[in-house]
Amino acid sequence: MIYIGNHLSASKGFLAMGKQCVKLGGNTFAFFTRNPRGGKAKDIDENDVEKFLAFKEENGIGPLVAHAPYTMNLCAAKEDIRRFSKEMLLDDMKRMEYVPGNYYNFHPGSHVGQGADAAIPVIAEALNEALSLAKNTTVLLETMAGKGSEVGRDFEELRRIIDLVEDSKNLGVCFDTCHTWDGGYDIVGDFDHVLKEFDEIIGLDRLKAVHLNDSMNPRESHKDRHQKLGQGEIGEEALKYVVNHPLLQGKPFILETPNEDDGYVKEIALIKEWNKGQ
Ligand code: FE
Ligand code: FE
Ligand code: ZN
Repeated sequence: MIYIGNHLSASKGFLAMGKQCVKLGGNTFAFFTRNPRGGKAKDIDENDVEKFLAFKEENGIGPLVAHAPYTMNLCAAKEDIRRFSKEMLLDDMKRMEYVPGNYYNFHPGSHVGQGADAAIPVIAEALNEALSLAKNTTVLLETMAGKGSEVGRDFEELRRIIDLVEDSKNLGVCFDTCHTWDGGYDIVGDFDHVLKEFDEIIGLDRLKAVHLNDSMNPRESHKDRHQKLGQGEIGEEALKYVVNHPLLQGKPFILETPNEDDGYVKEIALIKEWNKGQ
């Protein structure tokens, strides 16, 4: 069995997200720790968190996959963006400790012309600081499509970041199917081989969560445009294979497909149907 859910709005707090998750038929969810475009985060309401943790337990909600804001770029060329990004990351780490045992996913960053070789040590250094605060949180690097100057465009780049992190026991990877496909990995033709490569380069023990998306574009397009399940270039058959892969059972799968609530209700039900008996 897998956990399945989508991105929910954090504006009304944790308990509201928990209820919305159940209403949509899910048993995990993602949320932005603050406005996706950045800025100050809402104060944590401890009473809300306490109620949510009980609700999560009662309803069998699996590990959450929080998402850092898109504006966070730890390896930005501009010093002020770097500083601001690191402050957000460290603040998010403290906030995640209120809901222990969950995941915090982020895009490694865009090197904007500096080159990946210059960016990777900068990302790792910020992670060293963040992970010293992450006692009960696992931080996830997302596999990227390689759009523009994105770092994390292949498994090797993620490995290089991990290698520079001093204490990486709370560091994992979130496997985004659209990004990985757009990045050039053949999810359709040979997903077993993609996982084998992941295992050889990063190690499957680091694969903690999946972003389940179809893609509007062909393999290796480096575009990053998500599509509804079964309506893109990855297609239903391959996505079904991913969902039912024995090595991925027990993990949270987050939909980032272009849908409104009714669309998510349908996709969540569809995935539960695919995953029946697993
Ligand atoms: Fe993402
Ligand atoms: Fe994603
Ligand atoms: Zn994406």
